[in-house]
Amino acid sequence: YLGVCGAASGPDAPSAAAMAEGIRQVMDGTVSEFTLEYPCHSPTEQRWFLSRVTQFRGASRNIVIAHENITTRKLAEIGVRRLNRVYAVLSAINALIVRVHDRDALFRQACQIAIEHGGFHMSMIAMVDPATDKVVPVASAGKDEDIMSAIRKILSSDEKASATMVVQAIRKQTAIVSNDSASDSRLTLRESFTRAGVRSLAVLPLIVSGESVGVLVLYATEKDFFHEEEMNLLTELANDVAFAIDHIGRQERLDYLGSYDHLTGLANRHLFLERLAHCVGGASDEGRGLAVILIDLERFKNINDTLGKPAGDALLRQVAEWLIRQVGDADRVARIGADQFAFGMRVGVPSGDDALQLEAVIDAFLNHPFRLDGQTYRIAAKFGVAMFPDDGDDANVLFRNAETALKKAKTGGHRHLSYAKNMTESVAQRLTLENQLRQALDNEEFVLHYQPKVDLDSGEITSVEALMRWNDPRTGLVSPGLFIPILEDTGLIYEVGRWALRQALEDYLRWRDAGLNAVRIAVNVSPLQLRHPGFLGLINQIVAIDAHAAQGLELEITEGMIMDDMKQAISSLDAIRALGVRIAIDDFGTGFSSLGYLSKLPIDTLKIDRMFVTGMINDSQGLSLVSTIINLAHSLDLTVVAEGVETEQQANLLKLLRCNEMQGYLFSKPVPTDVLEERFLTQLRQPDTG
Ligand code: C2E
Ligand code: MG
Ligand code: MG
Repeated sequence: YLGVCGAASGPDAPSAAAMAEGIRQVMDGTVSEFTLEYPCHSPTEQRWFLSRVTQFRGASRNIVIAHENITTRKLAEIGVRRLNRVYAVLSAINALIVRVHDRDALFRQACQIAIEHGGFHMSMIAMVDPATDKVVPVASAGKDEDIMSAIRKILSSDEKASATMVVQAIRKQTAIVSNDSASDSRLTLRESFTRAGVRSLAVLPLIVSGESVGVLVLYATEKDFFHEEEMNLLTELANDVAFAIDHIGRQERLDYLGSYDHLTGLANRHLFLERLAHCVGGASDEGRGLAVILIDLERFKNINDTLGKPAGDALLRQVAEWLIRQVGDADRVARIGADQFAFGMRVGVPSGDDALQLEAVIDAFLNHPFRLDGQTYRIAAKFGVAMFPDDGDDANVLFRNAETALKKAKTGGHRHLSYAKNMTESVAQRLTLENQLRQALDNEEFVLHYQPKVDLDSGEITSVEALMRWNDPRTGLVSPGLFIPILEDTGLIYEVGRWALRQALEDYLRWRDAGLNAVRIAVNVSPLQLRHPGFLGLINQIVAIDAHAAQGLELEITEGMIMDDMKQAISSLDAIRALGVRIAIDDFGTGFSSLGYLSKLPIDTLKIDRMFVTGMINDSQGLSLVSTIINLAHSLDLTVVAEGVETEQQANLLKLLRCNEMQGYLFSKPVPTDVLEERFLTQLRQPDTG
């Protein structure tokens, strides 16, 4: 079998010995098959083989040895491992940036992270001293004093410094890589580095406002460590460190993530509401009117699916630019959801003529030729409008009414609707649906399906989420997206919501009694329910059914319902948690994304919205955002659950980013109670307490 590898090379001695032993065992009949993976490098290339020794036609003295070249797979594995190390550094450094407030700590800990999380051999940050224009090492890890003083000496020398990779990277503002440092003549300290075990290195410039302020240098013990993918991530990393340098002491990164949308640079919903409140105040003082317009791009998902995410992102940026141009002030435009924007316009009182002006803006949008991949597209959209003072006299009410108008425009097939106008909308049609839903409640046509959440490390089910369906006798199962808004509009949500809470607890207690693995059930709560003065009393009442009830319940609430009235929300959440019921923030990132507010909230769990989970693949910006959210949540002692995990790749990446749990089709879709019990709750029986 040595012959397979050619005359020039063979497996290393331990593999050869293991192979000989394997052959002996198969011939003896001790085992019927033996396999071995082993390196078999030639002088010019790295190769790996998998050999399988089997008995031939059952006769033990006759054997077959098959050799498979598995080099491609091995190289891919090595590549993934290399990339994982870089991801780990990126993730840890992003957490550091949120946490750390002074430069020295940033530099020191960033170097340390590169070694501890990334497995790099050494690391160094050097900064340009603006007074002398010389480059000075400011932090390092893994380096001994001899190397450091040699580096300092060269960098301070007038003649030698300019030839160094460090100074070159700073001048050219590009990363410089040496993937075979032992024989790279560009390296001034090549011999010292080689002696210290370095085989490749990368010098990354730190660029702040277009100027190089320093470098981050990473040293690996492997040759050929820094490939294109690693460099893309490391460039991102250097950008993040540069960003932190720029904003340190001012904590602006946190504020930024809390107030702006990272893709378009527009304000997010939270900041928009703040600004809107300001504008409403101004308009009221001056006796002017104000229009709040929300836009929902139609079939945006199709664009993402057919043209790819980069095209989708490009479209969102173009929409943002178009809106800023129309409105004339970037501060009055916001991105409030994945494919939703908002803007404010000044109007007179009464607003008769302005309706025409608004109409003109909407027409202009629908007719605007957006360009994607060299083609022209017209983008369909729905609009919802609310006017100050007619439709509300504070920012929250206006915004909510504009949202209601938008929702109506979407379900009713209107191009745009004003809040006031939709009041006269086809009442009859709504009444039928309303009646049907009322009957559904009476006839017990609502059902709860359950979707498991699993621990990313152990793979075990930690809890389940209750997702409501309407089992309409005419059409079959109806999804909550279609009927919850109507339940909310009609106030039926209180009753149906109460039913869901009761039903979930009944199921939980039944599981307990039956000795099943009774996991906690998370129930979704509508903002209206939480705001209802009787809600706390209801939870109290439900939990009082049984001594174990509270530990079986978690409430999933959205960011929006907290931001409306922060003080009140905090006090009722506190009271609910005091009962032993857990609280989760649902769909995190879609609404206010206020990382800054999180620390004030009495919550246990953060659920990252599916949009971010999808967005983290093939997009290092998206990845670093998820990583930042996870690390920040962990620093607040929150459990992090990723929603909508559909692929192994997403699950692996989330595990790497130390996300705690996942929920999604990859593990299981939401299933009826009996299926859940049979498939997922029977494994772990609780000890019989008699
Ligand atoms: P949610 O709470 O964010 O629930 C997650 C939604 O994502 C569920 O949709 C679930 O079926 C879906 N999902 C889970 N894994 C995946 C995945 O891997 N891929 C994809 N594409 N989707 C996945 P569903 O059941 O249609 O529920 C939609 C929303 O309706 C829920 O969003 C929740 O906000 C609301 N809802 C559901 N049940 C109730 C309820 O009892 N009360 C209230 N107020 N709202 C509810
Ligand atoms: Mg939920
Ligand atoms: Mg969700």
